[in-house]
Amino acid sequence: MSLRFPESMNECIYFTRRSIGKGKAAAWVFKEKCPKCQKSLMGKPRKDDGRISIRAKEYTCPSCNHTVEKKEYEDTLTANIQYTCPGCGNKGETQTQFKRKNINGVQTLRVQCQKCSGNIDITKKMKDPKKKGESKDFDDD
Ligand SMILES: [Zn+2]
Ligand SMILES: [Zn+2]
Repeated sequence: MSLRFPESMNECIYFTRRSIGKGKAAAWVFKEKCPKCQKSLMGKPRKDDGRISIRAKEYTCPSCNHTVEKKEYEDTLTANIQYTCPGCGNKGETQTQFKRKNINGVQTLRVQCQKCSGNIDITKKMKDPKKKGESKDFDDD
């Protein structure tokens, strides 16, 4: 499998890079087309001043204004994951449904290493105000 890497962050609703023990992972989720009109990519609605409303709880189609609740929409998307397994060092790529599971109280996107079947957990990022601005990740909720 060869995953397509995003050319621009504008293509994604989610992008992150993590160190996981001795390994690492990058995960990203592409925006997908409006399920109703198939004309435009669904995105966060824009505010009156034209800026994107990052914290919006829904996604809207700019062509037909079809609106889907954030979680409902995100659950239908595919997460792309490129990893170096922390257990065995295998480098791989995989895809999974972009649906986080609650693992030890943390919202986690979990995939398995294709070689050793070990878990590769991409946890939801904890807010760390000290690191603000240093990272290109975005994980907005
Ligand atoms: Zn539409
Ligand atoms: Zn492994």
